[in-house]
Amino acid sequence: MKINADDYRKLNPGERILMGPGPSNVPSRVLQAMAAPCIGHLDPYFLSIMNDVQELLRYLFQTNNPLTIPISGTGSAGMETCLVNLVESGDEVVVCVNGVFGTRMADIVNRIGGKLIRVDAEWGRTIDPEAVQKIVSDCTPKVIAVVHAETSTGVCQPLEDLAHIAHDAGALFLVDTVTSLGGMDVALDRTKIDAAYSGTQKCISCPPGLSPISLSEGAIDALEQRKTPVVSWYLDMSMVRDYWGDERKYHHTAPINMIYGFREALRIIAEESLERRFERHRLNHRALVAGIEIMGLSMLVPESERLPMLNAVCIPDGVDDIKIRKALLNDFDIEIGGGLGEFAGRIWRVGLMGHTSHPRNVLLFLSALETLLKAENFKVQPGALDAAAAVYQER
Ligand SMILES: *Cc1c(COP(=O)(O)O)cnc(C)c1O
Repeated sequence: MKINADDYRKLNPGERILMGPGPSNVPSRVLQAMAAPCIGHLDPYFLSIMNDVQELLRYLFQTNNPLTIPISGTGSAGMETCLVNLVESGDEVVVCVNGVFGTRMADIVNRIGGKLIRVDAEWGRTIDPEAVQKIVSDCTPKVIAVVHAETSTGVCQPLEDLAHIAHDAGALFLVDTVTSLGGMDVALDRTKIDAAYSGTQKCISCPPGLSPISLSEGAIDALEQRKTPVVSWYLDMSMVRDYWGDERKYHHTAPINMIYGFREALRIIAEESLERRFERHRLNHRALVAGIEIMGLSMLVPESERLPMLNAVCIPDGVDDIKIRKALLNDFDIEIGGGLGEFAGRIWRVGLMGHTSHPRNVLLFLSALETLLKAENFKVQPGALDAAAAVYQER
């Protein structure tokens, strides 16, 4: 095969405002860190960087768990890592399903031979702990798994009651924190979460490519007491931890420059502090919702169950989903997400994650949406920017 190198243009993706379900906008400090020289993965300098990452990550997860590391892969790799290490063929696993990502966990449990027990809730609503309690009284689950921030619907799942139910049942409590980590309180030790995984491209505002995970002592005991080897070689934590631990035993080559970027993103979080970061996410969310509701649009999720970083907005009747999203991207460089599954064509998913969660993005989005809805002859009620500004002024 012959190719002409000149046919391939120089890379030039342009700047976008990433207000979808991830990735979020990446601060230039993170991109610059990623452009540092690639050195050997067992170079003493890189080993010190690996140590920094583990310490900074414990701060972010609010845990003392020694095994707190990034998996080389995206959020779904972290999901698979937790399940594949904690579940053996035939183990009973309760998975709470109220959106796409709970469904994905259930799929993995089936693939690895776990005995899946689903607790379903309506998409767009939280899982009722009583429903879980009821199921658990009829089985002996090894793991109870739930999604903290369901990115497909914008629902925030309270964790305390489920953690109690899991521990009373002698089960490990596994939580998907892909979208919550870095944008709202994720306190592994306080909440007694045994296994958690996340992703770098949501509220951590680093490009996609790593999946931070953390395992409690209980989870490590379960790993050590397995009767069968972990079915995935690449994600087997009994080997991966010897690479990240003191032994530095080669397992796979860490994605060096990705780890540089991740470390910088974690440094930015530590500089801001978790408290201020969570407050910023709440504030920008409130301002966005104030503007959306004044315009005459409605939110999918009831107020008490909403996430601060992912806003599901109902698309009004007669408004063309694709046309609006195309115009946002082409005319305003704003990316938002469409609905998934049963919500396709029915909601917009507006992300305010990490670096993207900023008043300037909230105000720009509200005015862009207002302009486009007017052009579609939707009767927009005036005052969106004032309503958002009022929220900022309250402070
Ligand atoms: C994005 C996401 C995932 C999957 O992460 P990828 O990086 O796309 O593999 C899993 N769970 C939730 C809640 C997510 O939002």
